[in-house]
Amino acid sequence: MSVRPYRDIARRKCRQIKVGAVRVGGDAPITVQSMTNTLTADAKATIAQIQALEAAGADIVRVSCPDEESTAAMGEIVRAAKVPIVADIHFHYKRAIEAAKAGAACLRINPGNIGSADRVKEVVKAAKDHGCAMRIGVNAGSLERELLERYGEPCPEAMVESALDHAKILEDNDFFEFKISVKASDVFLAVAAYQGLADACDYPLHLGITEAGGFRSGTVKSSIGMGSLLWAGIGDTIRVSLSADPVEEIKVGFDILKSLNLRHRGVNIISCPSCARQQYEVIKTVERLEQRIAHINTPMTVSVIGCVVNGPGEARETDIGFTGGGNGTHQVYIAGVPHHRLKDADIVDHLVELIEKKAAEIEAAKAAAAAASGAKTAAE
Ligand code: SF4
Repeated sequence: MSVRPYRDIARRKCRQIKVGAVRVGGDAPITVQSMTNTLTADAKATIAQIQALEAAGADIVRVSCPDEESTAAMGEIVRAAKVPIVADIHFHYKRAIEAAKAGAACLRINPGNIGSADRVKEVVKAAKDHGCAMRIGVNAGSLERELLERYGEPCPEAMVESALDHAKILEDNDFFEFKISVKASDVFLAVAAYQGLADACDYPLHLGITEAGGFRSGTVKSSIGMGSLLWAGIGDTIRVSLSADPVEEIKVGFDILKSLNLRHRGVNIISCPSCARQQYEVIKTVERLEQRIAHINTPMTVSVIGCVVNGPGEARETDIGFTGGGNGTHQVYIAGVPHHRLKDADIVDHLVELIEKKAAEIEAAKAAAAAASGAKTAAE
């Protein structure tokens, strides 16, 4: 029995597949992915963007392959990338085969759109030969005409049926290394479609609220849609879709997972909105602090609170706590207990120093634990 059952999320049980070296589904951590928006044929620009996404923590990156020039660049892109690369294919089965040969770890392709059964066989063979997974990507905006006529409009049932039809084609070809998405820009539709699909199959699910909008509105929609699914235990890999720098998609993705305690990466800052009681400029401090600690991947929680109304209470639950006090004298907490005071000094500099020290301690403890378990295994 968990100590805080109200925080427990029971994850949907599903198969596990591998996208390159990254496990998706089963008990694997929920992964965060994004997509490049450079011209894929421009390998240099695409690699630079993939590296920026990797630095932000991306587990998987998708690259579109609309033409032969794109798949021709895939080999170079795959070799330069540390993360597995998904090739996004629409209709052209030859691009899928070329991408698989070039080392793509996954093909995003809907087998029902490829054409003849022979073409499907060729693509599946290429995927099997090159250890490539697939993603069936159903989108409310591009549902098959027959389903639209039968259901009258894009609806959850039509999206689930479309996904299962595509899945059946792969199953008939003895291929099971795939995940599925049923995206829609409408949050209600996407959530209902994913719920239906989660009940109807045991494949890993790739979550997304497609064409969600600009940075702010897209973040809100994605957080509501994906957040409610993840909270219900549904979802194995996520892509936040924003009309913004793809690096922001990764950051928002991790923030959604952090909010639900599903994954921890970097510093989780708890800060108050500030008010007339604040004893220092909370908003500016948090802005500067976030920039200065963006490079830290070690999970930890830091509270930055304007005054004693909520400061001590929040600090109790954190690794490092900071509460504004009178006369420029602020209280610092370590591991939830008062540790020292800071008077007339730069708050951000001080917090960065404490956070970097704590991160180094956590990493050293992790390395020591890993070395100890390695030595134990070697002795056994
Ligand atoms: S913690 Fe203090 S400063 Fe921050 S919002 Fe609450 S009362 Fe205002």
